[in-house]
Amino acid sequence: MSLEIHSFVLGPLENNTYLLADAETGSAVIVDPAMGVQGILPQIQAQGWMLQAVWLTHAHFDHTTGIAALFNALGRKLPVGLHPADLDLYLQGGGAAGFGFHHRPGPQPSIQFAHADQLSVGNEILEVRHTPGHTRGHVIFYSSAAQSVLVGDVIFAGGVGRTDLPGGSWRQLRKSILDQVFTLPPETRIFSGHGKETSVGVEQDTNPFF
Ligand SMILES: [Zn+2]
Ligand SMILES: [Zn+2]
Repeated sequence: MSLEIHSFVLGPLENNTYLLADAETGSAVIVDPAMGVQGILPQIQAQGWMLQAVWLTHAHFDHTTGIAALFNALGRKLPVGLHPADLDLYLQGGGAAGFGFHHRPGPQPSIQFAHADQLSVGNEILEVRHTPGHTRGHVIFYSSAAQSVLVGDVIFAGGVGRTDLPGGSWRQLRKSILDQVFTLPPETRIFSGHGKETSVGVEQDTNPFF
């Protein structure tokens, strides 16, 4: 197992942006590039990581605002992955207007995620799980080898994602968490879109929404 998961707290909504990197090949992917993500590029380049793609858990603006600045700083575009059920939200600016933010959508996604897709970072494989409820096209990325899951805004340490925004549904979110997160081994580490790391077992035992 050579998957490394590095987290960076970025932007006004304190988003967790993640760098997934395969230590064997040097391949790396950025998940949910928030505002200011270009500031971590020097660290990425100093480590010799080679960025292959941007993966989005969902289209909310705070998880995508950094894409354009990242590509500018890199001097090239990377493929962007998104579930098609979140494409409309992405093209409408990710709900930024509702928060008083102005945000132009980034480059059109070129990778369409589907449930059960197997994605690679170098030699490491992550599984896509479709988890609607916070947004219609929300997905999570699971590595069984690394015993880790990146869950975006589906579940947090002691909390759950909002369901009052367009496309949200508590009934769906609850089902997504029960079927796609709580079925993972309890020792699985949970890396959320905001807040601190937790685990499947801890949330099963202590999350006040369950
Ligand atoms: Zn969100
Ligand atoms: Zn968020």
